[in-house]
Amino acid sequence: MQMYSEADVDSACLEGKRIAILGYGSQGRAHALNLKDSGFDVVVGLRPGGPSWPRAEADGLQVREPKDAVKGAAIVAFLTPDLVQGALYEAVRSEIDQGSALLFAHGFNIHFKQIAPRSDLDVVLIAPKGPGDLVRRQYEEGHGVPCLVAVEQDSSGNALKLALAYGQGIGGARAGVIETTFAEETETDLFGEQAVLCGGVTELVVAGFETLVKAGYQPEVAYYECMHELKLIVDLLHEGGLRKMHEFISETAAYGDLTRGPRIVDDHVRETMQEVLTEIQDGTFAREWIAENASGQSEYKRLMNDDLAQQIEKVGGDLRSRMDWLEN
Ligand code: NAD
Ligand code: MG
Repeated sequence: MQMYSEADVDSACLEGKRIAILGYGSQGRAHALNLKDSGFDVVVGLRPGGPSWPRAEADGLQVREPKDAVKGAAIVAFLTPDLVQGALYEAVRSEIDQGSALLFAHGFNIHFKQIAPRSDLDVVLIAPKGPGDLVRRQYEEGHGVPCLVAVEQDSSGNALKLALAYGQGIGGARAGVIETTFAEETETDLFGEQAVLCGGVTELVVAGFETLVKAGYQPEVAYYECMHELKLIVDLLHEGGLRKMHEFISETAAYGDLTRGPRIVDDHVRETMQEVLTEIQDGTFAREWIAENASGQSEYKRLMNDDLAQQIEKVGGDLRSRMDWLEN
């Protein structure tokens, strides 16, 4: 494992050079503001008339249309939703300077060949292992979210150095930057969000909630048990792994975990995880998601509506509105 920290970074290679950030959502805003506060020359590329334009200007950033923003930039960071990056690259491709670097925060479009970059460009990845608001907040607090770095195309011979300087600029090098490949980042990132972080956890929460409600317990009690208390456990795991969780939960909870947990996430679940991983590796998932976007996202929208119409959402909304310190 190759891990870079601040001492390994030569920020001078980016000094006086411009960085174009395309997109101003979760990652785009965090990267743009952190890089600006790190002293770099940042310009944000956005569609005129979109809601992000006034927001970026109000944050004190220069904003241009994407094809103007990329002109003269040493690094062009693609931080729009993954499935619009291909068309965006085609729209700006002829305006990007000779020998510049394309930077991605997720390897999807390069790994699944939705973007075929010009051969004179460097192609690098700085993927923060956390959402954009955390990338910003940790930076402001003097900390950083760990990142992955990868180089797909090294035309300048300087691509890794440049990527690390960017990683330092957003605060990632404070926590450590691990070297990977576009393939490893893309496949592990998709697997993590599908099997564990988003797909797995939410289905576990909803299934637990519905099991209690079906057995006649009060939905509000089931909500606190299966959804609300998750934060306590996640914080302990985040701070100190399984050991810290076990130090803080009761012995009864620990015994229940050790004896019942493996029955919930059993061999069947592990086999399904392997199937989901195979669908990522062989491109099945990517083809499905690309086709879904090409046909207007109707199935995605239907599934999203169903997800948000579940009983746990109604019960949770009422309960959370009583906790006015929550940002809901
Ligand atoms: P987002 O959906 O939060 O932001 C999208 C931004 O792009 C918005 O400002 C939107 O106005 C702009 N945009 C949309 N279409 C555009 C177009 N055609 N031209 C110009 N701008 C356009 O996106 P995000 O979640 O920050 O994701 C950006 C990248 O970061 C993706 O590659 C994603 O995989 C990666 N990433 C995201 C996270 C995360 O936590 N959200 C974490 C790691 C990596
Ligand atoms: Mg779900």
